[in-house]
Amino acid sequence: MAELGLGIDIGATKIAVGLVTPNGHVQTRGEIPTKAESSEKLVKELQLLIHEVTSNNEISSVGIGSAGPIDVQRGTISPVNISIWRDFPVVELVQDITKIKKVSLLGDVVALVYGEFKLGAARGKQNILGLVVSTGIGGGLILNGEVYNGSTWNGGYIGHTLIGGSDKKCFCGGVGCIEAVSSGPSMTKWAKDNGLPISNDAKFEDVAKAAREGNAIAIEAIRLGVDAIAFAAANASALLDLDAVILGGGVAESGEIFWEPLQDAFSRRKAHNKFLSIKNLTPCHLGTSAGLIGAALYSISQS
Ligand SMILES: [Zn+2]
Repeated sequence: MAELGLGIDIGATKIAVGLVTPNGHVQTRGEIPTKAESSEKLVKELQLLIHEVTSNNEISSVGIGSAGPIDVQRGTISPVNISIWRDFPVVELVQDITKIKKVSLLGDVVALVYGEFKLGAARGKQNILGLVVSTGIGGGLILNGEVYNGSTWNGGYIGHTLIGGSDKKCFCGGVGCIEAVSSGPSMTKWAKDNGLPISNDAKFEDVAKAAREGNAIAIEAIRLGVDAIAFAAANASALLDLDAVILGGGVAESGEIFWEPLQDAFSRRKAHNKFLSIKNLTPCHLGTSAGLIGAALYSISQS
């Protein structure tokens, strides 16, 4: 019987769990919201979900991809958006629930990049940066065909690298972080501050819609945001001689209004480094299951 891996994707708003075959097929899948009154309640719901998804199937390994920060050595996570989990021992919990000792922990974007590397947008590539542009900007790296963890398991932390000439304050305490310019909320705030008539709870979709209708402020907000992403992607491409940069997340699903200026800026930002084989940025292919597929396949690969 084929080895089955269990993939768990812990994001800001939901936890997805899926039973994954070695060729990346998701046999069963379910999800729960992360919003819960207490840690105990969320743990109980996760336990029920894991039992429901695994049912009577025998699993050989478990992979967890989680929003950061994560501590792989201790097996704990402190996802910024799940405030009831701080230094939460997720690996031990999942070992207890599944009775499986082999539990891998990865950053959520690293898991996504691994899934796209094995089956999706970056198949056949060896040196890959994955970016997720949404409420924040996440990153993950595959180098020489292997997950790159870095010294503290935070390799790929590109959202808080700096771009020149920006004085934008970031929630992390830094000034000039890419995330402070290019995340969905950052572009939306710039548009509102510069006169786009949108409500205080407007989302990036509202800016994208205005840009599609030809509003110059909305178009400029997106141009500034994608230029910073292109800046970071071009720097990373040259530094690491990448052969793919893949990009996903809610903001990246806005279509041509986002992709066209992004590809254009990336082309210009990387043009002087003529050795680069990479031509364009590539949209992610695997959709909302990419993280859990990647986490499960990574755990199977560690067998
Ligand atoms: Zn920052």
